[in-house]
Amino acid sequence: SHPEAIFAFDNSYARMPSRFFARVDPTPVSAPRLICLNRGLAIELGVDPDRLGNADAVQVLAGATVPEGAEPLAMAYAGHQFGNFVPQLGDGRALLLGEVIGRDGVRRDIQLKGSGPTPFSRRGDGRAALGPALREFIVSEAMAALGIPTTRSLAVVATGETVRRERPLQGAVLTRVARSHVRVGTFQFFRAREDVDGLRLLADHVIARHYPEVASSDPAPLGTQYRAMLEQVVARTAALIALWQSVGFIHGVMNTDNMQVAGETIDYGPCAFMDSFHPGTVYSSIDAGGRYAYGNQPQIGHWNMARLAEAMLPLLGSDPQEAVDAANAALATFPDRFQAAWDAAFRRKLGLMTGQDTDRTLAHDLLTIMAGQGADFTLTFRRLSDLAAPGAGEEAMAAFRSLFAQPMAVDDWLATWRQRTAQEAGEPMERLRAMRNVNPAFIPRNHQVEHALVAAETGTTGPLEDLVEVLRRPFDNQPGRAAYALPPRPEQVVAATFC
Ligand code: AMP
Ligand code: MG
Ligand code: MG
Repeated sequence: SHPEAIFAFDNSYARMPSRFFARVDPTPVSAPRLICLNRGLAIELGVDPDRLGNADAVQVLAGATVPEGAEPLAMAYAGHQFGNFVPQLGDGRALLLGEVIGRDGVRRDIQLKGSGPTPFSRRGDGRAALGPALREFIVSEAMAALGIPTTRSLAVVATGETVRRERPLQGAVLTRVARSHVRVGTFQFFRAREDVDGLRLLADHVIARHYPEVASSDPAPLGTQYRAMLEQVVARTAALIALWQSVGFIHGVMNTDNMQVAGETIDYGPCAFMDSFHPGTVYSSIDAGGRYAYGNQPQIGHWNMARLAEAMLPLLGSDPQEAVDAANAALATFPDRFQAAWDAAFRRKLGLMTGQDTDRTLAHDLLTIMAGQGADFTLTFRRLSDLAAPGAGEEAMAAFRSLFAQPMAVDDWLATWRQRTAQEAGEPMERLRAMRNVNPAFIPRNHQVEHALVAAETGTTGPLEDLVEVLRRPFDNQPGRAAYALPPRPEQVVAATFC
């Protein structure tokens, strides 16, 4: 018999035709142990956080027990991996347990990642290692606190088993919470099979769940709602990537199977936040060519949307040329959408409430100086915020200038910025507050994440808990936590991240 229900499941994806997924139960593990639990998220989901800490709930979060109401399934999808099309990928180490409606009325997936093999595992073991699971927990929760659309992390449980990678590692299961697990690659899966009915059912599901405003009334011509859906996915993706750029986030594996159609950041693998700014920055150990470097993310986002449009072609019009024209029209909106979101984000970062034609140049000029001078991305904008304070003096000025290898390189830019802000109506105090609310003091810096992971691997979870707590309030000055705001010393630099 089942214990008292943990999640009030209300599943919709499990109602899709059977070719959309494979039903498979998680594989039990020997000695599950709760490593971290996201109590705040549990409450948002309408789940009692104390209940989740109980031994029977830990069995569920480890995939050892299937909870009441769950209908575990591995989703089918395809995808372009580093530019190469793979017609079948699918959840090889994850299972959708089911969906819950949160206190905000939003339907969210509850997924176990690392829960054992599925028919899509190919050569993989279906498992996840503790370090990467904890990285996803930390970074996804930091992104949420920064206000960036993202999947969330409810818990990480160590399995008590070993997973074999380059070296033996502890196994873990991450409970991921997402508005959707439908990816660009899910559309590609059906398109690759010329399964137009599957495509249509998938698009109808995505529209009903994520874009109800585009659901068309009966008299609309064929394809209207699908074109509108494509345009909305393009818009959300462009806006999302502009936000990534605005905090120095590098996803690391922007394959089309890692690009979700509801506009959330998904699949935290070898991701990282930049310390020193340079557009060519890459951390991912598997991205030798730098395809997914910081500066390439906007173009890759656009390219991924082109793959979505291509996959959706049979839905976009009854006449093939008409469908291609509709796809191109939707895709053509990406650059402007991205640029508008980027301009808005960087204007806010510079403390500008109004817009002028020269603002983009002002932002780009600063970034160019930062790149040439090895300036820390996060601290540059945070300390620039401090310069907006009414009484900002020598000390604030020295703190800002010290971020640049040759501080004089930024003086002319600063003078231009001051002239520009002088044209704004707001009081300096308002500007300071506004800038501090968009320019975080605290981001999940690689060296701190790495430190927390290594400690957790040896059974000490204090550093992990402290880091997560600091990252929950990224915009607050947290006295006593100043060390968390600092970039790595040369010997602390983490040059590569692994998934
Ligand atoms: P990712 O690079 O994490 O987006 O994964 C790409 C594909 O590989 C997906 O289909 C995953 O499910 C699959 N995969 C990754 N790691 C494993 C693993 N350890 N076992 C089975 N499948 C895996
Ligand atoms: Mg993936
Ligand atoms: Mg992954």
